[in-house]
Amino acid sequence: QVKERGRNGYAFYHDGMEAETRSRRRLEQDLRHAERHGQLELAYQPQAEVATGRVIGFEVLLRWHHPEHGPVPPDVFIPLAEATGAIVPIGTWVLRRACAEAAGWREPLGIAVNVSPVQLQRPGLVETVRATLEATGLDPSRLELEVTEGVLVRDGERALVVLNEVKALGVTVAMDDFGTGYSSLSTLRAFPFDRIKVDRSFVRDLGTSAEAAAIVRAVVGLGRGLGMPVIAEGVETAAQRDVLAANRCGVMQGYLVGQPGPIESFEALTSGSAGRDGAAGADRRGAE
Ligand code: C2E
Ligand code: MG
Ligand code: MG
Ligand code: MG
Repeated sequence: QVKERGRNGYAFYHDGMEAETRSRRRLEQDLRHAERHGQLELAYQPQAEVATGRVIGFEVLLRWHHPEHGPVPPDVFIPLAEATGAIVPIGTWVLRRACAEAAGWREPLGIAVNVSPVQLQRPGLVETVRATLEATGLDPSRLELEVTEGVLVRDGERALVVLNEVKALGVTVAMDDFGTGYSSLSTLRAFPFDRIKVDRSFVRDLGTSAEAAAIVRAVVGLGRGLGMPVIAEGVETAAQRDVLAANRCGVMQGYLVGQPGPIESFEALTSGSAGRDGAAGADRRGAE
């Protein structure tokens, strides 16, 4: 309402800022209690071999259903949880739920969990992972932690220690959103990743852009040279998949394989009465 905007632009801007800060604080408060109030859920998104389409694992994606606002996107609430530190207990909850779920599957499919920079920076992550594996009985080789490069650049020495300790448990580590950071190449050289996830911004134009194909081909080659198989994120079309196959990218994830959803929607894969007797997921690195 124009009349209530105040005398000048500054006042209006200032009021706007305050209102924004208030609603942000409110959302942060709500998030602290979201788990206890049963508002958090896990969505699972399948990862499949490019060559065969065979599902070899799932990425776990957190969902928050706010009682008033409805679903709040992770790109909104994860930064809030990071700012308040609430991401630490929430991240522990995600890990515990995901590992317990995967431990009950009929086939030993992989499970990939996103880990926030804040979780890596605070003490306790390694112990949390160790205790979770012990409590759930999940084979450590089935668990993968996905990290983005920001934290590695900012606090590299500590991150390297933590990642090595996690790997010593038998857990694998993937570099998420590869190509979107500032120094992806030096990060790859300095950290012991098991896999590289090519960001979906590079996958989007596969099939229509020769440049996009050249970049993905180069990343796959780089990964091969470093012993880090590549997963393509955000694969939506058969044309994109065909370019990936032609460039020997081993694994893909995206709407073409499946949208993130409740694990019940993948029941055939996880509790599968029509199963393949443990054949799937024996090698979650896929067709490398
Ligand atoms: P991410 O780890 O890179 O996750 C992939 C995102 O791409 C997900 O968005 C997924 O829904 C979306 N996606 C998958 N396939 C396609 C596709 O074919 N096309 C398009 N357009 N999008 C696709 P989402 O679920 O909104 O998650 C966004 C980000 O939030 C994640 O990016 C991750 O960084 C963060 N996040 C999600 N769950 C967690 C969590 O439990 N812990 C932490 N720390 N971060 C999380
Ligand atoms: Mg991820
Ligand atoms: Mg990603
Ligand atoms: Mg992302």
